[in-house]
Amino acid sequence: MPIRLHNSFTRQLEDLRPIVAGKVTMYNCGPTVYSSPHIGNFRSFLFADVLRRFLEDQGYEVTQVMNITDVGHLTLDDVEGGEDKMEAESKRTGRTAWDIAKQYTEEFQTCQEQLNVRLPHHMPRATDFIEQMGEIIEDLLKKGVAYEVNGNVYFEVGKFPAYGKLSGKVLDELEAGARVAVNKEKKDPRDFALWKVDDQHQMQWDGPFTGGQRGFPGWHIECSAMSMHYLGRSIDIHTGGEDNVFPHHECEIAQTEAHTGERFVGIWMHARHLLVDNTKMSKSLGNFFTVSDILAKGYTGIELRYALTRVQYRQSLNFTLHGLDEARKAIARVAEARKRLVRIREGEERAGGDDLKDVIQAAHDNFTASMQDDLNVSEALAATFDFVAACNKSEASVDGAKQALLAFARFEDVLAVFGDEPVASDAPPELVALLAKRKVAKASKDWATADQIRDEIGAAGWKIVDAAAGARLEKA
Ligand SMILES: [Zn+2]
Repeated sequence: MPIRLHNSFTRQLEDLRPIVAGKVTMYNCGPTVYSSPHIGNFRSFLFADVLRRFLEDQGYEVTQVMNITDVGHLTLDDVEGGEDKMEAESKRTGRTAWDIAKQYTEEFQTCQEQLNVRLPHHMPRATDFIEQMGEIIEDLLKKGVAYEVNGNVYFEVGKFPAYGKLSGKVLDELEAGARVAVNKEKKDPRDFALWKVDDQHQMQWDGPFTGGQRGFPGWHIECSAMSMHYLGRSIDIHTGGEDNVFPHHECEIAQTEAHTGERFVGIWMHARHLLVDNTKMSKSLGNFFTVSDILAKGYTGIELRYALTRVQYRQSLNFTLHGLDEARKAIARVAEARKRLVRIREGEERAGGDDLKDVIQAAHDNFTASMQDDLNVSEALAATFDFVAACNKSEASVDGAKQALLAFARFEDVLAVFGDEPVASDAPPELVALLAKRKVAKASKDWATADQIRDEIGAAGWKIVDAAAGARLEKA
């Protein structure tokens, strides 16, 4: 079975057919680093992470690029209005745009670690790619699909007939939207900026193209430049949040394809908005959470990750604090089942005769089929919990336990919501050492010492559970 993914461009499920067999190139639109990353941003980033992990699970060699937008993203970017988000934050706080970018880039990277993200191979900053943006702008000017007015450079949408195809927006709609912000320099209200002249902007460069004046790049050109630099002119997968579809990705397609004459992206994938308490997250409604807000409430990174990834990326996902409590319980169920299997494998609990072969095969098959079906994580989790139930009621053999644990390790490798394999006992090592001493004492019929050790362990808040396969420690 091939992997089937929903392509936003064709609005269909399509088989993944990479340009180079066995390899996948993937670009994810990353954060704009003007504030702390919120959980809505992370729904999209975690979806990209799960996608990459599953592709690797399926044997693909993935090259993943996620950009850091640290310049050019306007507060009203859908109509090219407002000001650069970095500059706005600078005015608000009195700090420089560069300082702000540094702080929130670091914070984003910390959140990635906290949420168990496998780091993209490249995480370029837009401000490091001004020259590459200039090369594309130069070429678009030369080809006559971009034009310059008072130093500002615009892409001429009318010269790219496929404009609007990704978002499905028709011409009238686009023009009506664009007219909200009247810009007399534009030939067509839909045209978008590649370069903006501004010698007051904190982040400014000499125009990196012939005749270019001092200013800063438009947001869209950044992603085209960074994607092309690392992954070439055509890539297999490009992801983002659904709010990136228009205008950002529509513009990326236009400028990149006008520049290369080749298809830019094989499959476009977009994660749906996160709802919080059944409504769009907003600061004014008081339902706005950053990643650190959630961790400060005592939830762990994997609990948050679970709550943000448990539903397939295209389905509506309603986030609640109650959902985090549910995530905690679900994770604990998996951990308990794994712990019992570890004890059987380690000879600390009596093994049965069941090799679990069919159960394990069914779990692998169901998990894989769910993920191949456009990353249906909820189905993959259901397959995992069916497996938990089957393991719990089985009388697993040592080898059965070993193979079942490998299956859990694989599911963890893809979803990264269950944590590492639990140890058989979480008892402190000094108590485990005492338990071993007691075993020796009992074997030599030194009952006094054995009893004394039992008391010592009891005083430390643990109890000895004698089982056929040996004694183990449990919290008293
Ligand atoms: Zn982007």
